[in-house]
Amino acid sequence: MDLSDTPEELAFREEVRAFLSAHLPARLSDRVRAGKSLSKEDHEAWHAMLNTKGWLAGSWPKEYGGAGWNAVERHIFEEECALAYAPRILPFGLAMLGPVLQAFGSPAQKDYWLPRILSGADWWCQGYSEPGAGSDLASLKTRAVRDGDHYLVNGQKTWTTLGQHANMIFCLVRTDPAAKAQEGISFLLIDMTAPGVEVRPILLLDGTAEVNEVWFTDVRVPVENLVGEENKGWTYAKYLLTHERTNIAGVGFSIAGLERLKHIARIERSGGRPLIENPHFAARLAKVEIDLMAMATTNLRVISRAAEGQAPGVESSMLKVKGTVIRQEINDLTRRAVGPYAMPFVSEALEGANEPPVGPDYAGPVAAQYFNNRKLSIYGGSNEVQRQIIAKTLLEL
Ligand SMILES: Cc1cc2nc3c(=O)[nH]c(=O)nc-3n(C[C@H](O)[C@H](O)[C@H](O)COP(=O)(O)OP(=O)(O)OC[C@H]3O[C@@H](n4cnc5c(N)ncnc54)[C@H](O)[C@@H]3O)c2cc1C
Repeated sequence: MDLSDTPEELAFREEVRAFLSAHLPARLSDRVRAGKSLSKEDHEAWHAMLNTKGWLAGSWPKEYGGAGWNAVERHIFEEECALAYAPRILPFGLAMLGPVLQAFGSPAQKDYWLPRILSGADWWCQGYSEPGAGSDLASLKTRAVRDGDHYLVNGQKTWTTLGQHANMIFCLVRTDPAAKAQEGISFLLIDMTAPGVEVRPILLLDGTAEVNEVWFTDVRVPVENLVGEENKGWTYAKYLLTHERTNIAGVGFSIAGLERLKHIARIERSGGRPLIENPHFAARLAKVEIDLMAMATTNLRVISRAAEGQAPGVESSMLKVKGTVIRQEINDLTRRAVGPYAMPFVSEALEGANEPPVGPDYAGPVAAQYFNNRKLSIYGGSNEVQRQIIAKTLLEL
């Protein structure tokens, strides 16, 4: 199979490169390259630049303001952005809620919310998980009770990524406690600035607080914020998850991570020779590179099918498992490559202190990234659970 770019694809790749070189601010790419965290304003600025170009929502159809790219164009864009150390495009509005609204939202919801996702008027976060309802998501307990033209919401969500910045949260809530678990759930859009919403940070292994607990106490939500039908939320939730999982595969991040790893392994030494020539290290490097090439091809197949209007199915679980195992292996090899300089996370190494950190510059973010990316095999549905889905659905075991 010939995987090289066609002349049209090559031209598109050049266009993306030219755009990135002209518009991606060095202050953002420098932070991404150094593994430093980005502020809300940094993310918003990058989204706005892409939106001005019409490239923020690569997968959305043009009728909704998306780029309407095919699978290969999306892959090229993702790869070039990662290689240029562009900030990631945050998925919550664009890759999670957007597809759900396009498929199941009312015309009024599409007209109101989709342009606001593109313009950045709303910052969305995902309210699925609860204490006791992660893998077993259908056991969620956050309750929404109809009260006239509002729902009254009470309960707690957890692990809410970047919820500290959000003004809106899409939530799974229980609207019929008497029904079978999956049949009593609804999909609700909740204003985080409404009275009764409280956000509390959770401190992570890498020293950051990018996830939160979100508490709801008698929060009033207008009924027009119900997506689709009441008690049919599980269908929409699963549809969203297939998009989320496909997104987590992160081919672009792995391609950029592998390039960086090779660069480091050419500089670092082992037994008097460049580390990249160490047979054991080289074998692991080769294996992860082959796995990445195979996964990138599978990724193209899945997003091609999604572009034809079919929601990704069990393939999204395969991509999620394989993509995250590859990203974690690249993190692990990078950690091994820098050896003792991959110190436990110290913020001074990333944000600056009186004394420069010990070791080469590229070692600074390695430990933090290794710890942070432990999350990849957990969120979006843990890899163990995805393997169960593959075993049941694909292998019919
Ligand atoms: C950094 C981070 C960010 C996140 N962001 C969000 C977010 O923005 N919004 C949101 O809603 N959620 C978010 N999550 C939550 C995430 O989706 C859940 O953590 C995940 O679904 C696992 O659920 P749990 O943590 O309750 O673990 P549990 O479900 O309690 O699982 C614990 C362990 O048991 C294993 N296990 C459970 N059931 C089975 C089974 N049937 N077979 C085999 N093994 C099993 C799991 O694999 C896991 O290893 C995030 C999580 C993390 C870590």
